[in-house]
Amino acid sequence: MSDVERLIPYPDRDSVLWWAALARHEFVQQRCDDCGTWRWPPRAMCSGCGSFTWTWQPAAGRGTVISCIRTHHAFLPGFEAPYFTVFVSIDEQADIVMPGTWHHADPPQVGLRVQVFFDDIDVREGAPVTLVGWQPADD
Ligand SMILES: [Zn+2]
Repeated sequence: MSDVERLIPYPDRDSVLWWAALARHEFVQQRCDDCGTWRWPPRAMCSGCGSFTWTWQPAAGRGTVISCIRTHHAFLPGFEAPYFTVFVSIDEQADIVMPGTWHHADPPQVGLRVQVFFDDIDVREGAPVTLVGWQPADD
């Protein structure tokens, strides 16, 4: 364990299974049982049809970079500036934009094809937390 004290995600009713899947290094998304709309972040109701029925389904974990933020000053403990947060439109549904970590010295170009990696973060107390990280795609 690290001695880093860091602000970590707090799973809620709708996201607890998503965080658990990330901890197992599985990339899943909710998908509406009635209309097939994918959704993220996890929530109870479909934004496409209003249905409350859905299933967790494996997702490819691939997408396209649409934006990136370089943080020059870390305002919270546990972050070393500069660092990047990369925003990716996932392949399953273009309007789902998922932020993730980026462990490269230079920012990605908009349009770069990327794939997910599971960024395990040591925290002072409790089990490590797994975040979505993005890296250049193999193909
Ligand atoms: Zn729906």
